[in-house]
Amino acid sequence: MDATVEELMHRRTLPDEALRTLLESEDTSLADSLHRAAREVTDARFGKRIWLRALVEWSSVCRNDCLYCGIRRGNRKAERYTLSAAEILSACERAYRHGLRTFVLQGGENPSGAEALVPVVEQLRARWPDAAITLSLGELPFDLYARLRRAGADRYLLRHESASPRLYASLHPAGMTLAHRLACLDELRRLGFQVGSGVMVGAPDQRTEDLIADIRYLERFSPDMIGLGPFIPHRDTPFGHFPAGSAETTLRLYSILRLMHPDAMIPSTTALSALHPGGKLAGILAGANVIMPNFTPPIQREAYSLYNGKPTTDGAESLTDMIGELAAAGYTIDPGRGDCIKN
Ligand code: SAH
Repeated sequence: MDATVEELMHRRTLPDEALRTLLESEDTSLADSLHRAAREVTDARFGKRIWLRALVEWSSVCRNDCLYCGIRRGNRKAERYTLSAAEILSACERAYRHGLRTFVLQGGENPSGAEALVPVVEQLRARWPDAAITLSLGELPFDLYARLRRAGADRYLLRHESASPRLYASLHPAGMTLAHRLACLDELRRLGFQVGSGVMVGAPDQRTEDLIADIRYLERFSPDMIGLGPFIPHRDTPFGHFPAGSAETTLRLYSILRLMHPDAMIPSTTALSALHPGGKLAGILAGANVIMPNFTPPIQREAYSLYNGKPTTDGAESLTDMIGELAAAGYTIDPGRGDCIKN
């Protein structure tokens, strides 16, 4: 094993310059060594098991205007919908029947819509006491976070998007601040949520030192879940003409973060498979341990367009194939909720 990779595996940290080498090196044997070490650590910790999360894209209504995102408020062409309580329940029911024990409700940032989710979360909690409920609804008033938590939500995903103030400002509209994003993450943790954070890889103007700042933020925050995917342009956004991020760099970051966070739940994300045909399995082989099949009804799935080229058959329909592919690589699906348990 490469000496730098070995140091990362044992010390769970590295100096900036060594991280830079792992991210930038053209030596493919170094990348191979990094991915092998990450798999070894993942397999030792989780025993070749993968957890499934049912993604339900509950609403494309958003008050925010993030420059990269296809459902930003400023995109007049975006189709707006919000699933009804009945539609959410039926999507979760379908997921539960398929054996999934985590429901992830994700959507645009829309506090009044999110208010209406409080009773829906209560219903999900009452109906499926053995399933975990994850929310990913952006920055909300803290009392609403508290009410969603009391209603029975267990986890919250809020990517910090960039720990570098310069890059954060260039990705977001005036008025959105990194300080507030991080304050939301601290509050979610204080409320007892299992918290997920992360970034897009290869966002316009992102440099290696920005990714190193992200690695350092995650090292301090120690998230329960880490979400990482490549940036992919959406034509009706200000970033529509920028190139997509690199799948290769995304995979290296999976491995680096796995070695630094052996207990974290790390999904192999849809954006990665949108860029890279074998992306789902490549993510797993680089250290991810979670897959999020899409259970949004097909019509709304199409409308929930954060970036162009999102796979639309990535859900329940292809679950059997996905499980088969994982089995061929020696992985089985764990039937439990898959909470993050820190050793
Ligand atoms: N509104 C919620 C959920 C956002 S969508 C929130 O603010 O947290 C989930 C994630 O998709 C975002 O955090 C962002 O990192 C990612 N995303 C958005 N646009 C993208 C794009 N063009 N390419 C890749 N990922 C994107």
